[in-house]
Amino acid sequence: MTAEDAKYIREQVMNHNKWFEESIPMIASENLMSPLAKEVLISDFADRYAEGLPGKRYYQGNIYVDKVETKAVELAKKLFNADFADVRPISGTVANMAVLFAFAEPGDTITTCALAQGAHISTCEFGAFGQRAVNSVNYPFNEENMNIDVDGTIKLLKQVKPKVAQFGLSVFLFPPPLKELEDTFNEVGCLVWEDCAHVLGLIAGGQFHDPLREGVNLISSSTHKTFPGPNHGMLLGSNMTEEQEKKLQKAVFPGVTSSHHLHAMAALAVTLAEMEVFAKDYAAQACKNSRQLGESLYELGIPVLCPDLGFTRSHAIAVDVSEFGGGKECAQLLEDANIICNKNMLPRDTSSVRPSGLRLGAQELTRVGMKESEMKEVAELIARVVKKKEDPAKVKEDVKALKRQFSNIQYCFNAGEPAYEYRKLVP
Ligand SMILES: *Cc1c(COP(=O)(O)O)cnc(C)c1O
Repeated sequence: MTAEDAKYIREQVMNHNKWFEESIPMIASENLMSPLAKEVLISDFADRYAEGLPGKRYYQGNIYVDKVETKAVELAKKLFNADFADVRPISGTVANMAVLFAFAEPGDTITTCALAQGAHISTCEFGAFGQRAVNSVNYPFNEENMNIDVDGTIKLLKQVKPKVAQFGLSVFLFPPPLKELEDTFNEVGCLVWEDCAHVLGLIAGGQFHDPLREGVNLISSSTHKTFPGPNHGMLLGSNMTEEQEKKLQKAVFPGVTSSHHLHAMAALAVTLAEMEVFAKDYAAQACKNSRQLGESLYELGIPVLCPDLGFTRSHAIAVDVSEFGGGKECAQLLEDANIICNKNMLPRDTSSVRPSGLRLGAQELTRVGMKESEMKEVAELIARVVKKKEDPAKVKEDVKALKRQFSNIQYCFNAGEPAYEYRKLVP
């Protein structure tokens, strides 16, 4: 028995599940959780409260929650070779807010990238940075290689002497030039912070770069993008003082969280354990896939950014579709063909609602077992919609046929189980 409205909602969620099972999801910030992570996500942890740190809670009933959280912190430190981990931020943005609360007063200067350079809204004036009223200063950016300009940034850092130098992007094609900036960080005496929301799963697998070994003190992150965990957040640190670690923990609670979504924390712990085993193969394949996708699209006459640099070193590529009607139009046509992606600003864009780019991520397709040969097929399907302007409804049938062969999850303990399953209680 289900009442009318509840029935309606379940039907829409089931429709959504089916749609994604038949689609090619390429949003670079999404992924699929493992069956084990999903299992603990709907456990009794979802109904409980915990505040504070293991062993120092404000509520009773946390005996097993404490064991899980202690283990999660241990696994996170080990996987990322970090001295410090906090698994309580409930999202990447909340993790960023904790860093801001801990290390920046209103009016303090933080250096960062601009939105059109691929930054996330949380580091912009109208996001968390603005809410904290910090004085944010943007790095000079080199469009040619889609990265921070080293010489200009050295000059800027010496001139504005930021309290915090912040890095990390949402269109994150290449690692920031941290090694080249390390001497300047030391001279200026700033805290170095990287937001690794997009690339955490790659870092776990030894791809992209290794921020904590390249001068970064502190990583904030989401845990559901290339890192295939639950919607949650995390903080990691190395070379921080004990005082800085305590400040950060206090900023997380009571600063920006109360209870920290214990079910998601447990699902994160499971994913950390799985990634210890599977991250290396998964991350290597995700990076190979995105490069292949870039190369294939480029060969089909679609301008992918940075061809001379191999298009990308991450899971994502940026495509300039201004000659095919722009990002908004192309993303809609692709959705009509069951290829799910998003419009995105490219460096010269001034409008975020009518940008000239598309951002495409290969991580979820990697997670369901696609390899380089499938990337070639995906590129052809995209080209048929975007460039040849074939009827999306027609392309959709071929999208479904391809995806049907890849509906099981990989790179986890229960590899081979259905990736998009909806577990029904009532028929
Ligand atoms: C996605 C993203 C975030 C925000 O993550 P949420 O978990 O959605 O809050 C923060 N920073 C960057 C760079 C991102 O790409």
